[in-house]
Amino acid sequence: MSPVYFLLVDDLPENLLSLEALLRRDGLVLLKARSGDEALELLLKHDVALALVDVQMPGLDGFELAELMRGNDRTRRIPIVFVTAGSADSQRRFRGYEAGAVDFIQKPIEPDILRSKAYVFFELYRQRQQLAAQRDELLAQAEALKDADRRKDEFLATLAHELRNPLAPLRQGLDTLRRNPDDERASAIRDMMDRQVVHLVRLIDDLLDVSRVSEGKITLRRETIEVADIVRAAVEASRPLIEAAGHSLAIDMPSQPIWLDADSMRMAQIVGNLLNNAAKYTPKGGRIRLSARAEGAAAVIEVSDNGIGIPPEMQSRVFQLFAQVDSRPDRPQAGLGIGLALVRQLVTLHDGTVEVHSAGAGKGSVFTIRLPLAAGPGQAPGPQEAASEQMPSRSLKVLVVDDNPEVAQTMAWLLEAIGHDHRLVHDGRKALEAAREYRPDVTLLDIGLPGMDGYAVCRAFRQDELFKSLPIIALTGLGQSQDKASSSEAGFDHHLTKPVSLADLEKLLASVGS
Ligand code: ADP
Repeated sequence: MSPVYFLLVDDLPENLLSLEALLRRDGLVLLKARSGDEALELLLKHDVALALVDVQMPGLDGFELAELMRGNDRTRRIPIVFVTAGSADSQRRFRGYEAGAVDFIQKPIEPDILRSKAYVFFELYRQRQQLAAQRDELLAQAEALKDADRRKDEFLATLAHELRNPLAPLRQGLDTLRRNPDDERASAIRDMMDRQVVHLVRLIDDLLDVSRVSEGKITLRRETIEVADIVRAAVEASRPLIEAAGHSLAIDMPSQPIWLDADSMRMAQIVGNLLNNAAKYTPKGGRIRLSARAEGAAAVIEVSDNGIGIPPEMQSRVFQLFAQVDSRPDRPQAGLGIGLALVRQLVTLHDGTVEVHSAGAGKGSVFTIRLPLAAGPGQAPGPQEAASEQMPSRSLKVLVVDDNPEVAQTMAWLLEAIGHDHRLVHDGRKALEAAREYRPDVTLLDIGLPGMDGYAVCRAFRQDELFKSLPIIALTGLGQSQDKASSSEAGFDHHLTKPVSLADLEKLLASVGS
C-alpha cells in the first residue's frame, strides 16, 4: 500500500524536527515546509492526509494558508490541525475553525496527545485508501465479467451460426436425393453430407473437450509412441479438407524414429487441428508442410502454410478460447475459435509448448509444437498387427436397446448393411426378456434409457447365467472418461460414443465375433 503523507508547517526548523521525531512511524512520510508558500508547493505535488500548521509564521500565516487551501479543489478536504502558542482565545479559535481547522494543539506539545490525534488521521486515510482499492478491484471484476459476458454472447452467436452451417448442405443434399434418388450426383452428394456430418461431430467434440480439459477431466492415456504414427493418423483425418481445397501437402520426417510418451489419439487431434486450420486459412491451391525433427531433448512438430497469415498483435491471442482474427459471421472459414485453445491445453497436458509465427497478414503461418522426447522401446517394434479391418467377420445376432426409435432403426439399417442380424428393443425393462428369446451374440445398449437405465440393464444381464459373458457394448452420448469408468463398472465390455462411425462399429463387431 502506498505511504500516507502528513504536511508539517512551521517557520522554525527545530520545531519541525521535534514534530518529526514525535510522529515518525512506518508507512508515514512527513513533508516539512518552513513557510506557507513552501507548504502550498508541496500540497500541489502530494496527496496529504493531514496538515499540522503553526499559526504564527512570518509572511503567510497559518490561517491565511488554511484559507488558501479551502479555496483550492485539490486541497479543500485536507484536515488541518493548528499548532498554537499558549491557549488561543476563543476569537482566534473561531477564526481558525472558520478557516477550516479540525482541531488545535497547544504548545508546549503533549507528545501523547499529538500522537493519538495524528494516529486517527493516519488510520482514516488508510481506510480511505483501502476502500478505494476495493472499489478499483470491484470495478475491474465488473469489467472482466462484462467482457466474459460479451465473449459468451459472441460465442453463442458463432455457435448457432457454425452449427447451422453444416445443416444447410445436409438439408439440401437430402432434399435433392429425395426428389431424385438416382441423381447422377448422388454419390457426390453423399460424400458431401458425410463431410458435413464429420464436421458437425468434430465441432461438438471440440466443444466438449475444451470444457473437460478446463475442468481437469481429461486424463491422458500415455504410451510410448512414434511421431510418424501420429502424423499418419492426423493426415488421414485432415486429408479430405486439404484435398477439397486443392492444397499440396508435403510431409518431412527424419529417417530415425522419434519417440514420445504421449496419448496417441490426443496427439493426432492436436496435429489434425493444426492441419485443418492450415487448410482453412490458406486460399485454394496453397502449400502445407508438416515436418518433425528431434532437437536436443525435444521433439519438434511443425505445421506451416502459405495462407492468410496472422497479424503480429494477434499471434499471442489466437490460443485464447473463442479468439478469432476475423470474427465476422460471414467470414469464409468456419470455426468456433476453440481449436487452438484446445491444442494449447492438450499440448500443455503433455508437458509441451505450442507457438505460432507469422510474418504478418498474407505471409503464411508456422505452428511449432515442442514435446519432451522419450526413450524408445527396448526393442524395435514388432511387425504391425495384422490388418484387423480385413478380418472376415461372421454374421452376428445383435440386440439393439435404444429408446430413440430413429437411432435404433438407423442402427438396424447399418447392421443389415454390414451383414448382421438384429432385434430392436426400445425399453430397458424389456431388454432381458427379448434377449432370452433372441439369444444375441452381442448387445448394443444405450445408457440414457427412461425407467431402467443402461447401467441397471447391464447389471441385470450380468446376473443372469445365460448372459454372464455376453459382449455388451455401451452406445451413448456420454463420452467422458468417468462415464466410461461407470460403464465398465456396471459390466459393459466396450464403450462407443454416438455418433459411431461405421468403421469403428464394424471393427468392434468383427473383434467381438472372432
Ligand atoms: P477457428 O478456426 O474455429 O476460428 P481456432 O482456435 O482453430 O478457431 O483458431 C483461432 C483463430 O486463429 C482462427 O479464427 C484464425 O483467425 C487464426 N488461425 C488459426 N490457424 C491459422 C492459420 N494456419 N493461418 C491463419 N490464421 C489462423
